[in-house]
Amino acid sequence: MSSTENTAAGDSRPRGPVDSSRIPRYAGPATFARLPRLDEVGTADVAVVGVPFDSGVSYRPGARFGGNAIREASRLLRPYNPAQDASPFALAQVADGGDIAVNPFNINEAVETVEAAADELLGTGARLMTLGGDHTIALPLLRSVAKKHGPVALLHFDAHLDTWDTYFGAEYTHGTPFRRAVEEGILDTSALSHVGTRGPLYGKQDLTDDEKMGFGIVTSADIYRRGADEVADQLRQRIGDRPLYISIDIDCLDPAHAPGTGTPEAGGMTSRELLEILRGLASCNLVSADVVEVAPAYDHAEITSVAASHTAYELTTLMTRRIAADRAGEGTGTK
Ligand code: MN
Ligand code: MN
Repeated sequence: MSSTENTAAGDSRPRGPVDSSRIPRYAGPATFARLPRLDEVGTADVAVVGVPFDSGVSYRPGARFGGNAIREASRLLRPYNPAQDASPFALAQVADGGDIAVNPFNINEAVETVEAAADELLGTGARLMTLGGDHTIALPLLRSVAKKHGPVALLHFDAHLDTWDTYFGAEYTHGTPFRRAVEEGILDTSALSHVGTRGPLYGKQDLTDDEKMGFGIVTSADIYRRGADEVADQLRQRIGDRPLYISIDIDCLDPAHAPGTGTPEAGGMTSRELLEILRGLASCNLVSADVVEVAPAYDHAEITSVAASHTAYELTTLMTRRIAADRAGEGTGTK
């Protein structure tokens, strides 16, 4: 209910969401969590950007509409996150940077456009919270992040490995970004994990190849058997304080929790398990993240886009908490 909006000139506090006690949540254009647009605040500590691109999919298309569906579903996100005891939009400036407009008919050009746009945003000092779009976009995002931080640790939540080589001869698809990333040397191969993996593969070789690239696997069944807390503890220990990128394919969730996606697989984790694992990663140095593969045409009652909006909220909270902790650690000499 309370407003975090502050627009007074000279006020250096972050500008928060639209005041929902004055303007109902369902009114007005949708930005992520009803936050200001990036051009309204100039620069941001976390820029939420959409990438409406789904020309890299191998099965059902439609993720090009994912970013705006997540924005619509994010209207109900409130400013205080009790699970992390933090007000993410007060800790640092989070703003909606709009969409990166990419060529839907030329995948290579689209990949280059995403990388260039990410370079520009990261160059302003922002961390990126990207809303897909299909999983192809993780490669240019990782390239850009690695230019800034060096090879990064990766947590990849997905039903699928996405480390296949090519599909119909194409090297850039939504099933290949992480093989390309390993080949390009932009991932820290001592800290790579898939989380939520399940479903049929082409053959056992898929797993052997994946392991050779350095990936560990936490299957959806592992999460069910061991629980979210234990899984998060193990992942956090493996990552340590390395710069971390989290890439979340919404199909990591069971189709009951995310029907609106292009490549659904039975037997996935619940949205509660996903959110709890993310909360368990507090203190990690999350430098950027994406949530991809939301395809609203297959969704029902916004189940998938609501789950994705809460997922992006937890990721944003992790980033702003880290930003605030780093600033506090720098002492009071800086303003
Ligand atoms: Mn997937
Ligand atoms: Mn994927």
